[in-house]
Amino acid sequence: MTTSDLVVCGSGPAGRALAHRALSRGLSVTVIDPQPHRRWTATYAAWADELPGWLSPQVVAAAVDQPVAWGARRAELDRRYVVFDTAALQDSLDLDGARIIADRVAGIAGPSRSGHALDLPSVRLVSGAILPGGRVIDARGVPRSPTLAEQTAFGVVVERARWTGDETLFMDWRTDNGADPGAPPSFLYAVPLDADTMLLEETCLAGRPALDLSELRTRLEHRLRCRGITLSGSERIERVRFPVHGGRPGPGTFGAAGALLHPATGYSVATALRLADATVAGDDLWPASARAVHGLRTAGLRALLSLPPQDIPVFFDAFFALSAARQRAYLSDRDDLGGMITAMTSVFAALPWRMRRTIAAATLGLGRARANS
Ligand SMILES: Cc1cc2nc3c(=O)[nH]c(=O)nc-3n(C[C@H](O)[C@H](O)[C@H](O)COP(=O)(O)OP(=O)(O)OC[C@H]3O[C@@H](n4cnc5c(N)ncnc54)[C@H](O)[C@@H]3O)c2cc1C
Repeated sequence: MTTSDLVVCGSGPAGRALAHRALSRGLSVTVIDPQPHRRWTATYAAWADELPGWLSPQVVAAAVDQPVAWGARRAELDRRYVVFDTAALQDSLDLDGARIIADRVAGIAGPSRSGHALDLPSVRLVSGAILPGGRVIDARGVPRSPTLAEQTAFGVVVERARWTGDETLFMDWRTDNGADPGAPPSFLYAVPLDADTMLLEETCLAGRPALDLSELRTRLEHRLRCRGITLSGSERIERVRFPVHGGRPGPGTFGAAGALLHPATGYSVATALRLADATVAGDDLWPASARAVHGLRTAGLRALLSLPPQDIPVFFDAFFALSAARQRAYLSDRDDLGGMITAMTSVFAALPWRMRRTIAAATLGLGRARANS
């Protein structure tokens, strides 16, 4: 059996992007996934300025220059937001020339320590085969676990004409979803999928446990009724559930498996696309500044989970009042430690004292902290 330069375990957005970029540099690549040809169905979105130059513009299905966020008040975000055409994104990351193996990875072993030149990292497959590779990267995502906070959402696709106001809502925390005021909150996410349709999704940003999908469906129906939209029941549905943190930072992991999920949003697709080339080149994705930013973001997730429901919109009002540059430092820049600290302290300073106390305790890992990583 020939040995590939790179063995990629998992062909989700991260694994596929990595394999695609390695192939474009002339490396020999093996991709292992139990369902390597599965079509992706999730709606993926990102900030336009996060996307790498090599990505075809054809993969963007819709773009919005100023999405809107609501805490208790309305804010226009000065940052272009794009929604991918999921099928086009998958197809654009073509794997022509890769060896594709439909199997499950049972284990990954590093190079043995004998120092022998032929000692390579290897992958053990459930079928029993052992596959050595010049490098092996784990992009198998993050498995669900009761110890990890998850994001959940229930969405419907409606004709764009039915969405009054035609606004793109990055987050709408207004309370017209019928939820009990003391219950964990959820927000409305409303984005165009193309020229004709909108995805309207009631979302639990993070919870351990997260709100279940039937509760989110009830809230979505209630909220949309309040806004003059009655669902017929025949709308296309999107169900979302995934851990918002987890994975292991390091040279042998990538995507969600490599801790590239943003713990406060659950986003990782654009980060994986952006970092694929650096990973192929063998660059260190985790300098001390990136590890520190990651630690602060995880602390930020703890802070968010510690807030009582009625304070969540107050928190986001403070966050979305930040300049676009500070929002970006919190949401996107992986190793701008100074920018991250400035963004966090600016939000903190804008909050009432009772919230500062709760957030300080959770950030330091005291009190009702519920996120770990
Ligand atoms: C419905 C939905 C909507 C989302 N929307 C967004 C969004 O808008 N923007 C954003 O940035 N993020 C979004 N996310 C979150 C996150 O970015 C995605 O979960 C993304 O798919 C993570 O990519 P990944 O390739 O790292 O992992 P995954 O997509 O989880 O891919 C892992 C791959 O590994 C394979 N695999 C698993 N176990 C094995 C094994 N043992 N051996 C071999 N292969 C294995 C799986 O089959 C899978 O193909 C969304 C998630 C969901 C579920």
